[in-house]
Amino acid sequence: MGQGMRPGWGPNIGPGATEAPTAVPHVDPEKCAGCGECVKACPFGAIEIRDGKAVVDEASCRGCRACVSACPTGAIS
Ligand code: SF4
Ligand code: SF4
Repeated sequence: MGQGMRPGWGPNIGPGATEAPTAVPHVDPEKCAGCGECVKACPFGAIEIRDGKAVVDEASCRGCRACVSACPTGAIS
């Protein structure tokens, strides 16, 4: 009994999640050109350009990593 239980996983996944369950991508401001490609690529509207640099809204990000491959300068990892 008890197999399949993953304490600490369940409560944070799904519509009621309060934190991103997967890794939120990191933007390197030194590499970011502010081109906005990641903003267009993000299906969840989790990125905006602020002061010429991409900023990820951790609450909206689902960790799909579409922005990572969309960035032409490799600023997102
Ligand atoms: S990982 Fe996905 S959801 Fe998160 S900012 Fe990038 S494109 Fe948006
Ligand atoms: S796609 Fe890359 S260079 Fe362009 S705004 Fe986003 S992080 Fe910056």
